[in-house]
Amino acid sequence: MLDIKITKTTAPREKPQGKLGFGKVFTDHMFIMDYTAGRGWHDPRIVPYGDLTLSPACMVFHYGQEMFEGLKAYKGVDGSSYLFRPDMNAKRTNATNDRLCIPQVSEEDYVQAIRALVQVEEDWIPTDPGTSLYIRPFIIATEPYLGVDISKNFLFMVILSPSGAYYESGLAPVSIWIEDDYVRAVKGGMGAAKTGGNYAASLAAQVKAHDEGYAQVLWLDGVERKYVEEVGAMNIFFKIDGTIVTPQLNGSILPGITRNSVLALCQEWGLPTEERLISVDELLEAQKSGKLEEVFGTGTAAVISPVGKLRYKDDVMVIGSGEIGQLSQKLYDTVTGIQLGKLDDKFGWRVKV
Ligand SMILES: *Cc1c(COP(=O)(O)O)cnc(C)c1O
Repeated sequence: MLDIKITKTTAPREKPQGKLGFGKVFTDHMFIMDYTAGRGWHDPRIVPYGDLTLSPACMVFHYGQEMFEGLKAYKGVDGSSYLFRPDMNAKRTNATNDRLCIPQVSEEDYVQAIRALVQVEEDWIPTDPGTSLYIRPFIIATEPYLGVDISKNFLFMVILSPSGAYYESGLAPVSIWIEDDYVRAVKGGMGAAKTGGNYAASLAAQVKAHDEGYAQVLWLDGVERKYVEEVGAMNIFFKIDGTIVTPQLNGSILPGITRNSVLALCQEWGLPTEERLISVDELLEAQKSGKLEEVFGTGTAAVISPVGKLRYKDDVMVIGSGEIGQLSQKLYDTVTGIQLGKLDDKFGWRVKV
């Protein structure tokens, strides 16, 4: 149990009115906790939101020793505030920390910190349909030292950002660029860790995809560039001839919590699911023979993101004549229904703030 010291702001800001975007507005407070080698994590506190003062020599600025997470708080239909599977974010944080030589954080303390901050900021949880309070926990290496080494100091922080509905009017299919030149991650690298470096590595391909008129990049495996891995910040699913198929977690794919939830729901509904290698050739084949029934991404931001078009080199695969698949819609309705407390939470995923 953390003994969190709370200092409230004396100048609360106006809540944003009208349409909320994503990630540009922050709430009045933030959570901070320090780590010092030999002493461990200490001084957990909630303080007014504000800038940090850091040495320009901090290791995070030079060698990228950092991690982040993303989850949301929702205002449920009963008026209470809820989180969705925050224990999974805590577990994934520690898996990322292991890969990046960042010290472990107690999973109970991690969830406690998030709940305490969201409690302080409960009024900031937006209530319009589809809106939520985005939660961004992160850890940065703060030792001022230019040698390549493991930092002796870290900061663990949580900031909050009210965010708008991902879909303005129903699930809209996106078009996706299958990248055959750049790669995001390789086995043995840090693709399975949620860390900024993976995103830095992805930007050049994203620019390329945007220039070609595609919203997102679908990455292939880093060795053969043959097997599908995942989309920018989403895992990917295919419905091929009635079977729900997603790439297996092979060490270079981020183990998404939405991915895990979607697999659990499909299995509960008695649908055949497979986690395995999926080659682009298989997709092209399936599309030609009319067996590629649905494609969708899964992630915290959009929950379910139907894919309407996939482009690989000169081949364009149009999926389901650009309409939203039945399964995509059902998964979206079910996951968001559980999050908001509209549906029975059989799996115990919803956690009251
Ligand atoms: C966060 C993330 C996902 C999605 O994970 P969720 O837990 O479902 O939000 C997928 N891929 C990458 C690269 C990510 O960073």
